[in-house]
Amino acid sequence: MNLIDTHVHLDEISDIEGALERAQKVGVRAIVAVGVDLVSNEKILSLAGRYPGLVYPALGLHPWRLTSDDLEANFSLIKRELPRCLALGEIGLDFALETPQDHQREIFTRLLAIAVKARKPILLHARRSWTAVLDLIKFFQVEKAVFHWYSGPPKVLSTIFEMGYYISATPAAAYSARHRQAIQAAPLDRILLETDAPEVYQGSPSEPKDLLRTLHSVSQLRGLAAEKIADQTFSNAQKFFQRYLIV
Ligand SMILES: [Zn+2]
Repeated sequence: MNLIDTHVHLDEISDIEGALERAQKVGVRAIVAVGVDLVSNEKILSLAGRYPGLVYPALGLHPWRLTSDDLEANFSLIKRELPRCLALGEIGLDFALETPQDHQREIFTRLLAIAVKARKPILLHARRSWTAVLDLIKFFQVEKAVFHWYSGPPKVLSTIFEMGYYISATPAAAYSARHRQAIQAAPLDRILLETDAPEVYQGSPSEPKDLLRTLHSVSQLRGLAAEKIADQTFSNAQKFFQRYLIV
């Protein structure tokens, strides 16, 4: 089986070497390591250098990390290094946060402008901000974007698919009603698989090998064999990341 974990916080995993080995044993052929701030972006670039052909870097600035004082240094790093990365992410808006929405929007729009200029796909974090995120990526005419771990309203979801965008499934597909609803409603060619590792799901921490948990939940939800979901989502990921991801 060939699988791609399209969203991993690899720098936050304690036993990276072991986690990568275990993932490869279950068929994970590529891992998209996402950054959230300057320090994590730097770590991800070095991990991608250490594991070429397995770990692919995406640089980001997570809405949860806007209070750090190295924002401008991170912007410089992103502008400089993005051309050799797979995607821009994790970026987005999180209206469940106390961080003022105006500030979040200002940072997010600056990031969108960089991604569009570099013609890179975008990995989105949206919480209680689904419409705002969608409106902004439409405004910037973003070509490729994935709403990571989508758990928003079905109405926004239909526009996401009309615009040609994607959603990604996590191990929460086993129990989260909203997430399950989204996966059931998605066209099969618009779903990517991920773990968001080391995220903890119902008390159980994850690593990239747990992509199998995501796979089996999606397979069960869609009533299709795991192999079929694996093949489809593998080709979805290759299409989404275009020529940048060579597996
Ligand atoms: Zn994440």
